[in-house]
Amino acid sequence: MTSPVNPHAQVCRYCNGFASVAVSSGGRDQRGHLRTITIDCPTCLGFGTLPVQPRPTASAWEVAA
Ligand SMILES: [Zn+2]
Repeated sequence: MTSPVNPHAQVCRYCNGFASVAVSSGGRDQRGHLRTITIDCPTCLGFGTLPVQPRPTASAWEVAA
């Protein structure tokens, strides 16, 4: 089964949809669990998607000379 596609959002091009990661902060706690901190993508703020941007028009690519 495929995942639903949201036409109003696109996968974040900076984190490629992996919006949150756990980073080891070193060492283990008393129970032996690895100490980690969760970091969210600063661009999509942990959502993994960004709003669809309108495509640039030809006039946007013109260089003023
Ligand atoms: Zn992102």
